[in-house]
Amino acid sequence: MTATITLIPGDGIGPEVTAAAREVVDAVGANIHWEDLDAGMSRLERTGVAVPEVVYESILRNGVALKGPMGNTFGGDFRVTRKARRANGRIEEHSYPGPTIALRGELELFANVRPIKSFAGIASRYHDIDLVIFRENSEDLYLGIERMTDQNTAEAVKRITRSGSERMARFAAEYMQRTGRERVTIGHKSNVLKLTDGLFLDACSETLASYPGITVESRVVDALCMELVLRPEHFDCLLLPNLYGDILSDLAAGLVGGLGVAPGANIGADCAVFEAVHGCAPDLAGRNVANPSSMILSAALMLRYLGQDRAARRIEAALDSVLRTGACVTPDLGGSAGTTEMTAAIVAQLDAPGTGVDSTPAP
Ligand code: NAD
Repeated sequence: MTATITLIPGDGIGPEVTAAAREVVDAVGANIHWEDLDAGMSRLERTGVAVPEVVYESILRNGVALKGPMGNTFGGDFRVTRKARRANGRIEEHSYPGPTIALRGELELFANVRPIKSFAGIASRYHDIDLVIFRENSEDLYLGIERMTDQNTAEAVKRITRSGSERMARFAAEYMQRTGRERVTIGHKSNVLKLTDGLFLDACSETLASYPGITVESRVVDALCMELVLRPEHFDCLLLPNLYGDILSDLAAGLVGGLGVAPGANIGADCAVFEAVHGCAPDLAGRNVANPSSMILSAALMLRYLGQDRAARRIEAALDSVLRTGACVTPDLGGSAGTTEMTAAIVAQLDAPGTGVDSTPAP
């Protein structure tokens, strides 16, 4: 059955890498019909609205979106707001620090799943890394609720709920059971943030205890960062509150070759939005140098989520093969190919005999 997918190019390198993903998905013959929509900071500049109502409607109607990264302002008081009828029947306005966080919040995409995997063709300090980061996607400091208490003092709200933490832990456990993963490490800072991170740690530990076959351990997040660099092979899955999940995702991407090869998925009860871990990289925008692999791998995750496993496997194998030869890769991987050339090389490999690449299961 053909799936209709909301496609949002986003900002910066977003249009280039989403075009690459679309080209590869079309070339593999996946059963996809694209619905093109526009959201992000460039749309805000052109129209005054970052995320129009049609975008929320399209994603909810289709159930699945592929999204390029979107920009944010650094500092200042810019917010993305949305007034809508809520589950309680009342019209309420919600406000977010940026367009990506608005989509996650409004669509209740509570789980962020980020598989981090070594590729044989990428020169990096480590080999054989294969871990999954589960980042709680709807709470924590990421709510962006801040205020000035006087002219020289600012504070922010770090909100953690038991229900949100339990929901995330259940999601992680069910994913692990489906995909044969056995150990999860909860990252926290409950030695200092005794109430908030303490609640996250307790709620997740209690929830995970009811899943047989899953070993649960925990680490203070700063020590976890060190250990990830020293012996990343120890880790199977990480379960993290929103902000630590954001930071450790980039750290973990660095273990396998950088942000250019780290895919991700935002999953909720009603819909899923697939996007790369990286941002819109303004330094690379419009130069045809961005690595398209993260977005292409995010599209492969999306295909697997849609049950189109064979198409996903072929895409991952083609990318693996291009990375192995190393002849046509972008500058971040040591090559000199442009985004479009690397994409064309991946498309050219789609029909090559399989490389036996071990694919990532659906979120
Ligand atoms: P970034 O991820 O955009 O860039 C960090 C570094 O990684 C830069 O040096 C960049 O050149 C490099 N990089 C990123 N993607 C790459 C790719 N595909 N190929 C090669 N190199 C790549 O992070 P940033 O600079 O901190 O943020 C830029 C903007 O993106 C900010 O406005 C931020 O808020 C936003 N952002 C959006 C998302 C999202 O939409 N999901 C995620 C992270 C950051």
